[in-house]
Formats: sequence, structure tokens, C-alpha cells
Amino acid sequence: MSEHTYTLEHARQLDQEDPLARYRDEFYIKQDQIYFDGNSLGLLSKRAEQTLLSMLHSWRDLGIDGWTEGEHPWFYLSEKLGEQLAPLVGGKPNEVIMTGSTTTNLHQLVASFFQPKGKKNKILADQLSFPTDIYALQSQLKLRGLDPETHLVKVASPDGHMLNEDDIIEAMSEEIAVIILPSILYRSGQILDMKRLTEEAHKREILIGFDLCHSIGSIPHQLSEWDVDFAFWCNYKHLNGGPGSVGGLYVNQRHFGKTPGLAGWFSSRKDRQFDMDHQLTAADDVGAFQMGTPHVLSVAPLIGSLEMFQEAGIENIREKSLKLSGYMLQLIDHELKDYDFKIRNPRNDDNRGGHIFLEHPEAARICKALKANNIIPDFRSPNGIRLAPVALYNTFAEVWEVVQTLKAIMKEEQYKQFENKRGVVA
Ligand SMILES: *Cc1c(COP(=O)(O)O)cnc(C)c1O
Repeated sequence: MSEHTYTLEHARQLDQEDPLARYRDEFYIKQDQIYFDGNSLGLLSKRAEQTLLSMLHSWRDLGIDGWTEGEHPWFYLSEKLGEQLAPLVGGKPNEVIMTGSTTTNLHQLVASFFQPKGKKNKILADQLSFPTDIYALQSQLKLRGLDPETHLVKVASPDGHMLNEDDIIEAMSEEIAVIILPSILYRSGQILDMKRLTEEAHKREILIGFDLCHSIGSIPHQLSEWDVDFAFWCNYKHLNGGPGSVGGLYVNQRHFGKTPGLAGWFSSRKDRQFDMDHQLTAADDVGAFQMGTPHVLSVAPLIGSLEMFQEAGIENIREKSLKLSGYMLQLIDHELKDYDFKIRNPRNDDNRGGHIFLEHPEAARICKALKANNIIPDFRSPNGIRLAPVALYNTFAEVWEVVQTLKAIMKEEQYKQFENKRGVVA
């Protein structure tokens, strides 16, 4: 590596060569602030704002008729957005729907697909899973009268950061009925090999579903080609759908016709819903897994946001994301080697998701010092710093600036001005 690699001039050169650079202007970016938290809450774009306002206006102007009239009739919105998002997960248009949240969708999918039979009555997850996923699985087991202590099997991590796919496969015993795993681990950013895990699960007649919260909008997926059974995710991280944005779910068409575990009148075939019959005629595609009235205003920003992903192309987004994080790793190795940071994300491109994960004993107050320097990181208790350079709106120059600031914080011991304690949301 030549010394030139580590100069701001080089970073600016990379920005000039960046084919996605123009998207930065589409977002509301605060002057003098560097936002590296797009993997927790993505920023607002002008197009997302526009579609939210347009939805509000359809309510103002159309009242009840907004369900079937206007630019985006509400009655068909969940399905339409599912079609629009399908290419991002590699699903067919009628395999994807925008509804619920990560947690409620997981409940729905487990209620639908976990069908314990004889000895095959356990769920397999992992020790590093996001807590809400584990809570949902525990309550689904309890609802069936099964003890989560014995019926929720969690694959251990050898180092507390990554999972080993061989260990997961080894845990696929005859007793496992369903597997729930993340596509990308929320702390280390490790990408699991979804194709391989799905193949191995199916060899053992186990159904498998993935939590895509950290991969949706960040990396490409081929869920249908890999034959994944189902998946679920939130849209407020890399997809920039806004705080509390409606989530999404995918069900492989092989399972169409299955009775939804948690039914509601929006599970209905669209042309039968207003028959108001007490006998549900469920939709014959993914629509069956919706429950109630869609949260129209909370889904509206996605219309504009998804348009940008379609236009920019997820392959291009992934390419830039890898360049940004790869560049950041180079700079961290070079500039921060004297300061006790441990890089906990995978280094190679095939396994690395969209963010960098550093550990440091002083992480909480280093994050506070970053904030005091107008840089927004993401602290993960007890000693983790997540930094997400996002392809659609961050720059190589910002990556350079963040690493230089981290260096100054350590060198000048700026972090010592703060308490090493976490805030409420972190
Ligand atoms: C962000 C995230 C969630 C959040 O679930 P909600 O229902 O949207 O609150 C769940 N799982 C993972 C892995 C996440 O990263």
C-alpha cells in the first residue's frame, strides 16, 4: 500500500470515481455531521418525504375513497410494495409483502410453520441472535405448551462474535422442526451462507427462515433460488423507510395455500374480504400472512425509498458498500494500530456485511467523544462500536474523517472527558 492511500486526497479521488455519488444529494444530510448509523436508522430521503406527503394528501383529499383511488390505493399497497421490493430479496412478486414488523412477522411465521410432530418438536436458533427474535421464539414455544429451556436450541459461537456454519449444520438434529437465523449478525456483521444452510436443513426435512434486518438493502439475496422457506425484516435500517416503518415478509411459493397461524381479515383473498364471511378464504399467495389493516402512513416513505434502490441497483450498492468498508479497514489498520481496537467483523468480502464492528474497553465513552465531534456511531453494550458507511449517502472522505477523528480522540485522550456508561437507547 503506498502512503498515498492514507491521504484525504485519495479519499476524494475515490468519491469522484463513485458512480452512486449523486444519491447523496437525495438525502437530508446535516451539515458538519457525519452519520454512520444507517444500519440502525437510515436517513430521510427527499423521495421518501415526498411519498409520505402524497399519502397524507390522499387522505385529506379522498377520505374513505383513498382505499381504492388516488395514486397509491391503500387497499393494494402492501402487495404492490411487496412486488417492488421482491428483487431485493430475490423473491417472486407474489412471495413478498409489506406488513407488520420484524417481531410480529416472526410470530406469524413461527405460528404458521412450526408444526411439532412427535420427536421433531424443537426450534434451532443461535446464541448471538437479536433478543426480540429469541423472546418471540420462547413465547411461541410456551403457547404450544413446550418448555423453551429444552425446546429452543441455540448454536454456540466459538468466539462470541461469529457463528460457524459447520456447528449450525451439526446442530440440525432429527428433533429440529424449524430453524431461525439471521442473514447478517447484528453485532459482528458476519454474513451466513444462506444457500448452504438451506440445502442442509432441507436434507433433514427441517424448515428454515432468515431474519434479514441487517442485510435488506445492503446485500443482494436469492431467496427463491436458494429455496429458503420464509424470511422477515424491518425497513427502517438500510432501506430508509423511517422510524417504526412497516416491515416485510417472504414466503416461498411452495408454501402457498398453508393456513396462516395468526389470521385476520387482511389474510383474505382480496375479492372475498368484503363478503364479511366468518369462514376465512385466505389469499392464495403471501397475502395470507397479513393480519389487519395496513399501516398506510408508516409504509408510505418506502414507496419513494424503494424507487431509489431499484434505480441504483442492489449489486452496485453492494459493490460500493464493500469498497467503503474495505477502505475503512485499511485506514483502521494503519492509523489506529497503537490504540487497542479489535476488529470483530469478518475481513473477507464474502462474509462481511455493511458495517464495521470495533471493540474497545472504553467503547462507551469513545462513542460519546465521537458524538461531541459530530460523528454519529452506534454503541453496542458492553464494549462495541458499530460504524456503518452507507453506500447511498456516505462518502470515502467521511470514512477518512471518522478514522482521523478516532485517532485524535485516542491520541489526545478526549474520551476521558466522558463517563464510560451507556445511554438508554444504545
Ligand atoms: C433491528 C432488528 C430487529 C427489530 O425488530 P422490530 O420488530 O422492528 O423492533 C429484530 N431483529 C434484528 C436482527 C434486528 O437487527
